[in-house]
Amino acid sequence: MTAVAGVSIPFLDLTDVTEDVRLEVLERWTEVLGTRDFVGGAAVAAFEHRFAAFCGTRHAIGTANGTDALHMVFRALGIGPGDEVVVPANTFVATAEAVCLAGATPRFADVDPETLLITPETLEAALTPRCKAVAVVHLYGQVPDLDALLATAERHGLLVVEDAAQAHGARWNGRRVGSFGVAGCFSFYPGKNLGAFGDAGAVVTSNSGLAERLRSMRDHGREPGSHYEHTLLGTNSRLDTVQAVVLDAKLRRLRDWNTARRALAAAYRELLDPEVAPVVRELPGSHGVHHLMVVRVRDRERVRQTLAEAGIGTGIHYPVPCHLMRPYVEFADGPLPVAERAATEVLSLPLYPTLGFAGVERVATLLNEAASRSWVA
Ligand SMILES: *Cc1c(COP(=O)(O)O)cnc(C)c1O
Repeated sequence: MTAVAGVSIPFLDLTDVTEDVRLEVLERWTEVLGTRDFVGGAAVAAFEHRFAAFCGTRHAIGTANGTDALHMVFRALGIGPGDEVVVPANTFVATAEAVCLAGATPRFADVDPETLLITPETLEAALTPRCKAVAVVHLYGQVPDLDALLATAERHGLLVVEDAAQAHGARWNGRRVGSFGVAGCFSFYPGKNLGAFGDAGAVVTSNSGLAERLRSMRDHGREPGSHYEHTLLGTNSRLDTVQAVVLDAKLRRLRDWNTARRALAAAYRELLDPEVAPVVRELPGSHGVHHLMVVRVRDRERVRQTLAEAGIGTGIHYPVPCHLMRPYVEFADGPLPVAERAATEVLSLPLYPTLGFAGVERVATLLNEAASRSWVA
C-alpha cells in the first residue's frame, strides 16, 4: 500500500510488513503447535544464533522485552545499589527505568543540539565518582560518535551498554551497533524496525561469562541444564517461541526494509526546508536505520494539527525528557537545556518501509507550508 495524494498517511503502518511474513509465520506456528515447544526450544536458539551473527557478536540472549534486556544487563554486570549509570535525558523512559530496576541511580546527560544524542562532553559533564557505566542510546536509529564515546568511557573506567532498541542493523563506520559495548540491548516491540507480534527483546554480547549469567537470569537463575538448582537471583524474561518464529522471518527482510527507510529518509532530507523544519543530523560515521524521522519545528501543536487535518499522523519522541519525569526528578542535578528545548520542538514524521516517495513528498510539502506559517505567526 503506497501513500498517494489525498489519502491519509498514518504515522506508522504495519500492514505490509505483517502481510509479508504472514504465510511463513502461520506455517511455522503450525509446526510449533505440533512440537508443543512453547518456551525455549529450537526456534528460539535458531533466532538467537542468526541475530548474533547479524550483529557481529558471539551471543544473543532472547528476552521478554527490551526493558528487561537492559535491566538484566545492568544486574548481570553487578551494577546495583550505590552505583550510578549515565543516561541521556533524551531517550525513551525505559533506559532510565532499567537503571532503577537494577537498583542503581541514573545520572542524566544532556545531548548534542544537532543529533540530539549523547556526546563525550555531555557524558563527562554528568559523571560522578560512583558512575560505573553509561547507557549509549542509538535514538531514532542514529548512532552517536562511538569512537569518541568508547575512548571517553575507557578513560573513566565506565562500562558501555548500548541501548539499540531503535537501531537494529545500524552501523558505525561499517560495524553493526550492539557489538561495540560490553552488551547491546534490543527491543522487538511491534513498531520497532525488527518487531514481533507482541513484546520481545534480546541482548547481544561477545562476553561469554555475561551471556551465561543472562541465560540463567532470564530463567529464574537456573543453573544451565538444571531444573531445580537456582544459583542466582533471576526473573522470568524468556523469549516466546511463537515470537522467535516471527523475528526469524522478519530478520531475513530487515536489510531491505532498512534500505527502504534510508531511501525515504534521504528523500525527506532533500524535500524538507531546513529553515523551517530542520532534520535531526546524522553523523558522517553513522549508517542509521531511521526508526524515526525527526524534525524540529516552532509552534509544534499547530503544525501537528494542520498535518492531522490533512490526514497525516505524527508522533513526538519525546515530549518530556527523562530527568523531568516524576519518578526521576529526584536524580536530576539541574537543567539540561538542549534536551529540554528539543522536547518542545521535536516532531516525528511518518516513516515505514512501504510509505513510498509519493507519501514523503506529500508530507514534506504540507510540512514546509505549515511550519513556515507557524514561523511567522
Ligand atoms: C522501545 C525502547 C526500549 C524498551 O523496549 P521494550 O521492548 O518496550 O521494553 C528501550 N529503549 C529504547 C530507546 C526504546 O525505544
